[in-house]
Amino acid sequence: MATVVKGLCQGCGICTQVCPRGAIRIIANVAVIDGDMCDDCEECVFACPNGSISG
Ligand code: SF4
Ligand code: SF4
Repeated sequence: MATVVKGLCQGCGICTQVCPRGAIRIIANVAVIDGDMCDDCEECVFACPNGSISG
C-alpha cells in the first residue's frame, strides 16, 4: 500500500480528497492510510504537493 513519509506531511488534506477509496484520514495533522482500504492506485502519490507519500 501507499505509505506516508513521516516528517514531510503537512496535513493539508489534499490526499484525502483525491483518494477514490476514502482510505486516507488526517489524524493529529498527519495523513494516515488505511491499508485494508488502499488499492495502490497512487492517486495520492501524484497529488501530494510535498512528495510525502510513496507508492
Ligand atoms: S497531500 Fe501530502 S502533505 Fe497533504 S495531507 Fe496528504 S500526505 Fe500530507
Ligand atoms: S494509493 Fe490510491 S487508494 Fe491508496 S491511499 Fe492513495 S489514493 Fe487512496
